[in-house]
Amino acid sequence: MDFKVAIIGRPNVGKSTLFNRLVGKRLALVDDQPGVTRDRREGTAKLYDLTFTVIDTAGLEEAFDNSLEARMRVQTEQAVDEADLAFLVVDSRAGITPLDEHFAQWLRKSPTPVFVLANKCEGRQGDSGFMDAYRLGLGEPVPISAEHGLGMTDLYDFVDEQM
Ligand code: GDP
Ligand code: MG
Repeated sequence: MDFKVAIIGRPNVGKSTLFNRLVGKRLALVDDQPGVTRDRREGTAKLYDLTFTVIDTAGLEEAFDNSLEARMRVQTEQAVDEADLAFLVVDSRAGITPLDEHFAQWLRKSPTPVFVLANKCEGRQGDSGFMDAYRLGLGEPVPISAEHGLGMTDLYDFVDEQM
């Protein structure tokens, strides 16, 4: 079984926090080669009775010498291409930004199924950003808190359904 889920989104939305929650200490591979693959992590996720591979598209600092947007795009493209399912993480506290919209526009054309995870939804501070995420045109956003482990049963349903 090699079902792959890519975690994508702009910096600071909580991708790595979600990755760490799903993978825990079962980090299969830390790629420390220089260049493009350096900031990408892959691990074995456990979610209740499901086991799958998860890809964290991480740091964006050193891989290329062009714009942040272009670097993100390349990394996101590679991860989504090889994944069976993608989670687009947005920050419900910060709200939807032009960069989120930029990726959403591109992801809407991708054959890989995409689910929008509105992270940082614990408490009430995420409410407006969560509603905003409907605008991305990728279906109903799912409120989660990667830090507090909220919304994990919804993630389970998405993965289970596609596996
Ligand atoms: P990444 O750049 O997308 O990988 O984001 P990180 O996982 O590094 O998280 C960025 C920041 O958001 C960190 O300070 C995290 O502690 C914080 N964060 C992540 N998940 C949550 C969450 O569910 N709720 C809140 N309030 N903060 C979170
Ligand atoms: Mg990260």
